[in-house]
Amino acid sequence: MTQKQTLSFQAEVAQLLHLVTHSLYSNKEIFLRELISNASDACDKLRFEALNNTALYEDAPNLEVRVDFDKQARTLTITDNGIGLSQQEAIDNLGTIAKSGTREFMNRLSGDQKSDAQLIGQFGVGFYSGFIVADKITVESRRAGLKPEEGVRWTSGGAGDFEVETITRPERGTRVTLHVREDALDYLSTWKLKSIIGKYSDHISLPILMRKEEWKEGEEGKGGEMVLTDEWETVNQASALWTRPKKDISDEQYQEFYKQISHDAEAPLAWSHNRVEGSTEYIQLLYIPAHAPFDLWNREKAAGVKLYVKRVFIMDDAESLLPIYLRFVKGVIDSSDLPLNVSRELLQESRDVKAIREGSTKRVLGMLEDLAKLEKEEGAGEEDKAKYGKFHAEFGAVLKEGLGEDFGNRERLAKLLRFASTQSDAADVSFADYKARMKEGQEAIYYITADSLAAAKNSPQLEVFRKKGIEVLLMTDRVDEWALNYLHEFEGTPLQSVAKGAVDLGKLQDEAEKKAAEQAAETFKPLLEKLRAALKDKAQDVRVTTRLVDSPACLVASDGGMSTQLARMLKQAGQKVPDTKPVLEVNAEHPLVKKLDTSPHFDDLANILFDQALLAEGGVPEDPAAYVKRVNALLV
Ligand code: ADP
Repeated sequence: MTQKQTLSFQAEVAQLLHLVTHSLYSNKEIFLRELISNASDACDKLRFEALNNTALYEDAPNLEVRVDFDKQARTLTITDNGIGLSQQEAIDNLGTIAKSGTREFMNRLSGDQKSDAQLIGQFGVGFYSGFIVADKITVESRRAGLKPEEGVRWTSGGAGDFEVETITRPERGTRVTLHVREDALDYLSTWKLKSIIGKYSDHISLPILMRKEEWKEGEEGKGGEMVLTDEWETVNQASALWTRPKKDISDEQYQEFYKQISHDAEAPLAWSHNRVEGSTEYIQLLYIPAHAPFDLWNREKAAGVKLYVKRVFIMDDAESLLPIYLRFVKGVIDSSDLPLNVSRELLQESRDVKAIREGSTKRVLGMLEDLAKLEKEEGAGEEDKAKYGKFHAEFGAVLKEGLGEDFGNRERLAKLLRFASTQSDAADVSFADYKARMKEGQEAIYYITADSLAAAKNSPQLEVFRKKGIEVLLMTDRVDEWALNYLHEFEGTPLQSVAKGAVDLGKLQDEAEKKAAEQAAETFKPLLEKLRAALKDKAQDVRVTTRLVDSPACLVASDGGMSTQLARMLKQAGQKVPDTKPVLEVNAEHPLVKKLDTSPHFDDLANILFDQALLAEGGVPEDPAAYVKRVNALLV
């Protein structure tokens, strides 16, 4: 490629650009943070590649970012001597968005500027944010290791396309030139730029340089003005934030650092900064975000914790540094023990990394426990009290995955979980709250899983518990049933699904009730036999139950079996499910059941009973047409 080429942006980029320029103008200044952050990343990449190839430093081993402007030309430039871009990289990286979930993200945009601006803050607009203040951007770059003649110039007005051409560029790295819009000319000021850098980029470990200004007297009679000199000075602290002592870092600085590494516009709920000493030494700075990112459910995405070794950025590595169920955590871990050229494979085997992972997991759980404590603390402010609830609403479902993934911390995790219950619609009941309210003689923590709160609340399996005033936890997250497979008890009290196995209310049932139940089982024996025969393809067993009050029948899973709800969910997700049939339980007191035996339509009624029980819990009869036919026949 020597002559100019004009290329089109990927559709998503064009869409994003439109959005950037139309919805982010209320917070224009972030463009500088994004561009400096890219420059800093480019330097990190160079340092990393140079570990195995020092020649990449050429004759410029000191990595830095320079910010400069030209009032006459109305340009603002951000120059780094990092890794740079090859021609192909410029085309790929500045013309497409590689992030996973981009399309899905775009689909969520509503067209409403305010909410879109928020979403976009989470997504991170990066390079394209330059177009908030520029009507044209020129990028000139040469990748480290390539010849000077292999440089590239990329230019775009931020509409549908961009141009690329080959240039000669002796210096390694990238210069981004913003041709500043009329309404953003106030950014062409040393004072303004310095104050933005101080706010957003102070903690960056690279020096950020700007030209010094000096007062120049005017011609006779005219006033003087500040002019730029050729002398450069460092305008940030240029030491990585996490390496500084805690007492020297303000809350604002912690929050700004979080925003930079997370691309989140909202402040985090909590953070924890520690220097861990002992057999493995490292610094951890971990944050709990206030809201879930758009791709929280993508378990494979790169996590938010960055690994550094002795201040050198190594990689984003999710799984080695924290378990997947803590994938919402953002932050930095800086080890002083790992070798600089550590590979992903090595990471997974390293004992130091295992220790870091364990230590960081404990730290995160500790932070969550502290937030949970605030909830009930007298004297805590309203905002602090609300924090744990906010966290749980956003990430509680992810945390539950930990029950199945992290056996060592299962008990701590169980204490952190919250649920809705028959006594509280808000998902704010902990196992401990539940236990404190248990009825005398109650020996288990009862729960039910369902697709929605409404379905859970209306579940016929709850009838007897309602009648007796026993609280039941209502679990409506998709992961609940799976997760609870791994939790059999909470502090000595067993957990019991009310939709599984026969109900055994134990001491909660009085003698008379027990007698009546036994009697019913006896008198219904012949009827049950007939039902079993009529439903042998559908039900594993048919039995009389005391759990129903108003409904004639319900379905339950056999003890240890999969609930019909979980089976349905797995099937929907395209997974193979062992074909276990549910148990049909009938209410001996219900008029429909009482009439059943003498009905001339026994077979039809039996099938209707079964299908209705299935419908009541949100399922669909296997043969809906047959069901309708049967009901209609009876109606006529
Ligand atoms: P992100 O940084 O989140 O990946 P950006 O839109 O900011 O997204 O940048 C896209 C890509 O362009 C980066 O991933 C990087 O590969 C490249 N890039 C941007 N700025 C620079 C730079 N100053 N030097 C080298 N590469 C850069």
